Amino acid sequence: MNRRGGKKRIVNGGGGRERLRRVDSAMRGSDEEENKQVKMKRRILVKYEALPEYLKDNEFILDYYRCEWPLKDTFLSVFSWHNETLNIWTHLSGFLIFAAMTVATLAENTKGEGPISSFFRSSAVAAPLMAILALDSNKGSRNASPGAHHRQFSKSSLLDIDGDDSIHVPRWPWFVFLVGAMCCLVFSSLSHLLACHSKRLNLFFWRLDYAGISLMIVCSFYGPIYYAFYCQPSWRVFYLTSITSLGMLAIITLLAPSLSSPHFRAFRASLFLAMGFSGAIPAVHAATLHWGHPQVLMALGYEVLMAILYATGAGFYVSRIPERWKPGAFDLTGHSHQIFHVFVIGGALAHSAAILIILNWRRALPAC
Ligand SMILES: [Zn+2]
Repeated sequence: MNRRGGKKRIVNGGGGRERLRRVDSAMRGSDEEENKQVKMKRRILVKYEALPEYLKDNEFILDYYRCEWPLKDTFLSVFSWHNETLNIWTHLSGFLIFAAMTVATLAENTKGEGPISSFFRSSAVAAPLMAILALDSNKGSRNASPGAHHRQFSKSSLLDIDGDDSIHVPRWPWFVFLVGAMCCLVFSSLSHLLACHSKRLNLFFWRLDYAGISLMIVCSFYGPIYYAFYCQPSWRVFYLTSITSLGMLAIITLLAPSLSSPHFRAFRASLFLAMGFSGAIPAVHAATLHWGHPQVLMALGYEVLMAILYATGAGFYVSRIPERWKPGAFDLTGHSHQIFHVFVIGGALAHSAAILIILNWRRALPAC
């Protein structure tokens, strides 16, 4: 700007200060305009065809892409509307839910009460299911008095945890799950927020996202296996070592850059589902081991719900429904990835319920 102004001054010599001032201000104006345009451009949303190859992931989402914005603008776009806004916020909200659960458990620890007040005093969430299970069990056993199972529940159920009895059962496996879930959700939010900045960050963040999912799956196993096989240490170690090795293998496999491409969408979903569904083996084992304990069966019920929610979410992720039916109509809201995120949070919450039920059940039992 100054250099240009100086040049003008030399050309014009002493001829008319007023003219010089006008030229100067006109040039300043055009420079400002140029700067403004550059600033506008860097925060402009572009169409799918305008994207570089590495950002082309879903051809059914046609518009509202951020593309190679400066890092600061990319970061601040968490508060603006584009086709990743809801992907970021669905998992950010999930992160906040699990952070709140962590704080709640820690607060309970200091007060000496049970995990999340023995799962909301169990009444709202668990009692109706317990009643159904009790009814069913009563039907099966002709000789049992009608209230027998209810009495059994209230003695050793989620509701009435004796603080002294519960001391021997550690809570760290529950925290392992909470930390795994929080890592997965925050990695996912960050990936959706920042991966559009550059090719380098794109590769880094999507691999971080997949590592986060694998971590969450592995961490999910710790609670149920630890509490279900609390008195069978060899089985506990065997199952936990197996799933941890499988998870590490998955992370190493997914670190290969080529596996981050859209082409391997189905492969990634299958790998995660296979890891998740390998939990069916210890689940059946636990069910046979604790068949007489309705709480364990109820926890399994929540695990089945979790599996249904995760599998449905993965179905949306792979099929890219509904945007494939009407490309462009779901760019901002309602596309498959957002639906997938909501199902993931639902699945993780169902799993939380399962862990809390089985943890509270174990706390009510005498030591091995
Ligand atoms: Zn995602």
